[in-house]
Amino acid sequence: MSSAAPPPISEPDPSTHSCSSSYAGPCSGCQRTTHKYGSGGLPLCQWCLASARQNWGPAVRFTSTRTP
Ligand SMILES: [Zn+2]
Repeated sequence: MSSAAPPPISEPDPSTHSCSSSYAGPCSGCQRTTHKYGSGGLPLCQWCLASARQNWGPAVRFTSTRTP
């Protein structure tokens, strides 16, 4: 598995530390609180994003995981 195990999902993604709480939302993968909305937001936390990049390559896009 990964060399850097993610913390429990009760721990918010570190990206939330540098964004407004109004931009935080649940990760699309593990439901961890992450910087999801607004500028720089991503639908996945950094750990899900890392595994997604391993599966899909560095040019990962979110066209297939976009939620309304
Ligand atoms: Zn996640």
